[in-house]
Amino acid sequence: MTTTHRLCLVLGDQLSLDLASLQGLDAERDCVLLVEVMEEASHVPHHPQKIALVFSAMRHFAQELQQRGIRVHYVALDDPRNTGSVPGELQRWHSQLQPSELHLTECGDWRLEQSLKQCGLAIHWHADSRFLCSRGEFSRWAQGKKQLRMEFFYRDMRRKSGLLLNGDGSPVGGAWNFDADNRKALPKGLRPPAPARFAADAITQEVLALVAKHFPHHYGRLDSFDYPVTRADAQSLWQYFLDWGLAAFGDYQDAMASNEPFVFHARISAALNIGLLDLRQLCSDVEAAYGSGTVALNAAEGFIRQLIGWREYVRGVYWLKMPDYAHGNVFGNSRSLPPFYWSGETRMNCMRQAIGQSLEHAYAHHIQRLMVTGNFALLAGIAPSEICAWYLAIYMDAFDWVELPNTLGMVMHADGGYLGSKPYCASGQYIKRMSDYCTGCAYKVSESTSEDACPFNALYWHFLMRHADLLRGNQRLALIYKNLARMPESRQQALWQRGQHLLATLDAGQPL
Ligand code: FAD
Ligand code: SF4
Repeated sequence: MTTTHRLCLVLGDQLSLDLASLQGLDAERDCVLLVEVMEEASHVPHHPQKIALVFSAMRHFAQELQQRGIRVHYVALDDPRNTGSVPGELQRWHSQLQPSELHLTECGDWRLEQSLKQCGLAIHWHADSRFLCSRGEFSRWAQGKKQLRMEFFYRDMRRKSGLLLNGDGSPVGGAWNFDADNRKALPKGLRPPAPARFAADAITQEVLALVAKHFPHHYGRLDSFDYPVTRADAQSLWQYFLDWGLAAFGDYQDAMASNEPFVFHARISAALNIGLLDLRQLCSDVEAAYGSGTVALNAAEGFIRQLIGWREYVRGVYWLKMPDYAHGNVFGNSRSLPPFYWSGETRMNCMRQAIGQSLEHAYAHHIQRLMVTGNFALLAGIAPSEICAWYLAIYMDAFDWVELPNTLGMVMHADGGYLGSKPYCASGQYIKRMSDYCTGCAYKVSESTSEDACPFNALYWHFLMRHADLLRGNQRLALIYKNLARMPESRQQALWQRGQHLLATLDAGQPL
């Protein structure tokens, strides 16, 4: 038997050949371990398509490593010796192979990283160089700041990466941020491109059968799985977006439309988060598309801002603030998540569309997550832990480091405004402006207090009234509180009562 010098554990979201812990492997003496475990697949009821994506991509990655001459030990979910947890498998293989060294790149989940740090084995930890900003660099940037602002962090990342900068270090186009140009609704007659679809090969089919067998009670459709599971297919998905999506991405970034689950979005987050795509390559492709004149600056800057601004920023906040961050609940919310989040069975068309496509594709784009399902949870006072668990379960791209700050911080404002300067609360008017959802809805968006009035309207004012002590002093909400103060007392009461009625309906377990 060959003795093992170095054993590298590669997790399901670390499928990159340039992963720090995989560098300098000796094909003769070292080996890689990949494990499919029940604990990671079921600590929340992950969407079956997400489990299939991760397991299939892991199996393809193992093959890719083997083709490069690297020794790989692969543990399938249904292997009878599988202990069911990552630390359990690491301990089992450690005693079997007796390696001189164990190597691992830092995790994307605080819970898992802690359990590995406490499993009694000496591990050489590697920083995750797939990100532009390391954990240490972010914490140095945040030091001494009471509140963080993504915009300032983003400018530093632009300077660091050199993306979209003039020779003198100023931003191309004379401004750092063109978000104001990126808020158009989809005009009638403009159809987004059909999504790129990827057929399941033999490995994926085997995984789909495994997932169907072991996770029959998890929410979401499995048979519509069409995601890329290899580096080459993920690259094709990316190229498809460059060819057909990026030019319109800027203008229609915030637009929503019935039966258009993807609009002009890239759908690459899952592939990027598990390591099939490279952040720096994506950014330089987008910069090159702008340089060649194929896309406008608001599209290129908007996309790059999401990647090196928001994505890096939420990761920084996560690692800076965990584990306390997960318990933030500044509004003291305790309401249970309404069951229709798991079924899509509600008369609110916007919610039905956003939840329906999430169950079907494990995907919703940013504005649906923020301003529809997230906005509703904020206004209805859902317990942060329940809504965070839902987002972590339902989306293909959801990993704790990125899901938690987006949900708990950006959507629920449960961190008291550490991540974002104000809650993203909105009435039905916002949804009406940015979508066609209201025309197909059982509720009337123009009404607020009648029996068939849009629930978002009264809940919006109810939210502002019940949290006035906490929010009234927020400069960015000053105008809204002025409008509230000017409202006749009778109108305020009617809104409050309608809000109370809607919340009581939810508390009775009834759908809206
Ligand atoms: P596009 O709209 O085409 O955007 C391009 C890329 O920018 C995305 O692929 C993503 O990598 C990055 N990006 C954009 N916004 C963000 C952001 N706020 N945080 C991090 N990355 C961003 N994204 C995840 O990857 N995983 C999550 O678990 C996740 N949970 C979210 C939960 C909530 C409540 C909200 C409001 C947003 C969440 N996001 C999450 C961010 C964003 O919604 C998704 O990245 C995006 O919808 C993915 O689709 P896309 O690839 O088509 O993105
Ligand atoms: Fe959503 Fe209200 Fe519009 Fe219906 S009327 S789609 S509930 S915003």
